[in-house]
Amino acid sequence: MNIKNIKLSLLTACLTGSLYPALAQTADGLNSFSEASYRKYVSEVSSDKLMGRLPFSKGETATLNYLEQQFKALGLEPGNKGSFLQPVPMVSIYTNPDPQMKVTGANASFDLEGLKDYVLWTRRTDARIDLKNEELVFAGFGISAPEFNHDDYAGLDVKGKIVVVLVNDPGYYDAKQFKGKTMTYYGRWTYKYDEAAKHGAKGCLIIHDTAPAAYGFSVVANSWKASKLYLDPRGHESYKSAFEGWLTLPASEKLFATIGTDYKTMLAKALAPGFKGESLKLNITTGLSTTCTYNQSHNVIAKITGTKHADECIIYSAHWDHFGISKPDAKGDSIYNGAIDNGSGTAGLLELAKVFKGLKVKPERTIIFLSVTAEEQGLWGSAYYAENPVFPKNKTVADINMDMFYPYGKTKDISVVGYGQSQLEDYLSAAAKTQGRHIEPEAVPSKGMYFRSDHFNFAKIGVPALYIETGTDLVTQGKEAGLKMHDYYNTSVYHKPNDEYDAAKWDVSGTIQDLQLVFLVGKKLAYSNEWPQWKSGSEFKAVRESYLKR
Ligand SMILES: [Zn+2]
Repeated sequence: MNIKNIKLSLLTACLTGSLYPALAQTADGLNSFSEASYRKYVSEVSSDKLMGRLPFSKGETATLNYLEQQFKALGLEPGNKGSFLQPVPMVSIYTNPDPQMKVTGANASFDLEGLKDYVLWTRRTDARIDLKNEELVFAGFGISAPEFNHDDYAGLDVKGKIVVVLVNDPGYYDAKQFKGKTMTYYGRWTYKYDEAAKHGAKGCLIIHDTAPAAYGFSVVANSWKASKLYLDPRGHESYKSAFEGWLTLPASEKLFATIGTDYKTMLAKALAPGFKGESLKLNITTGLSTTCTYNQSHNVIAKITGTKHADECIIYSAHWDHFGISKPDAKGDSIYNGAIDNGSGTAGLLELAKVFKGLKVKPERTIIFLSVTAEEQGLWGSAYYAENPVFPKNKTVADINMDMFYPYGKTKDISVVGYGQSQLEDYLSAAAKTQGRHIEPEAVPSKGMYFRSDHFNFAKIGVPALYIETGTDLVTQGKEAGLKMHDYYNTSVYHKPNDEYDAAKWDVSGTIQDLQLVFLVGKKLAYSNEWPQWKSGSEFKAVRESYLKR
């Protein structure tokens, strides 16, 4: 294109009002990212002064004050009707189950022992729940998935009964079903409990099997006699099963043996086409008591109002919470600073706010910076926001979530968690190319990581959501060294008191590059009329299209 043509096209752009997209493609903002300011944010967010950022604690107050001050200093607007805070009412339910569960049937009468054979808990706030001779029904994987032509509840009446289901989804066993080894939302345990309740089940027990579950029974055993956090249901009650829980594999074998079958046979049945659920002709009797504590935490919401489509928003999210002060490690350190989880994402949120605010050409769509609470205990802050959004879901273009940037330097790749879900990854891929980098699927898709951070609550209501992870192919030392670093942080730092900021050890150059990428994705959307879509085969596509036809 010669000079004359450029002038002409600029003129045309001005006349048609599309000058901003042309300018948006320039480097505006990219050079404003700075390691120094990112380091300052992450060191402050993860300092002992914030006491490990535990919801409801003094650490929460300190964290909220810090975030509000930073957003104000950057000149951002409060995002929730004049306030930077969105109260999130929650209830903590402590379940004290009876020590045993009696199993009875034509050929059976024996007790299963709590914690050894099963764990259970409730989402109900009733002080006491008694279960007497409740019928057990086998419901395969407990999945109703129209897009995969799969319905374990077809022709099965589970109302008032206890469903027993398999862990994960059929794709884990059969590459031709679902998405093969890539776990779908239907493989998640939370989905199975929700689905059972939707069908009116009185309870739901998942059979634990370590390989398809991706974690041992000891992990689910942590739920025994424990407090679990939920959104406060008062005022908007919906049906909840009397209990949820897990059965060990040996306990399940014991149940199956009394009716002349075994786990392997039941699994094969559930995988076969035309599977039909069936009564196990066994009943259980047990009970539980609860203690409920109501409390309020907060999301922090800041925004930059769009110049042209102020009613449409792009959300950047990152959870601020972590574990507070708890069990000390070998060195006696008891403050869980959560520098990587998720001081890094929170610092990234502030850095992005700084850069967006400093843009020469202001964004046309509104940009929301959402710092959510209670991620670690069940993604509750984002769940509350998704149910009570500041901008309705049909005006929310996308969510870009940040949860953990690893500080081990520049990588050639960037991992997309939930690869193949939405067009947002195509935007990311294009942005990565400008840095001479490329996108890669996450390392272990069968772990279902896409369903384990805050963006998932946006996906559930149909809003396309992008979640990236630090790549592993190190620019200087290669893939093997990168995988080692990734492993080190996962096994020796993750959710431990030594998840701390270390100015000397941390190389944040890769984080800055990753932030520039998510910045470019959001920036592209900020100056356009585009509505990124879920890709075909995504379990969230139908939800989005039910209210957003384009
Ligand atoms: Zn996290």
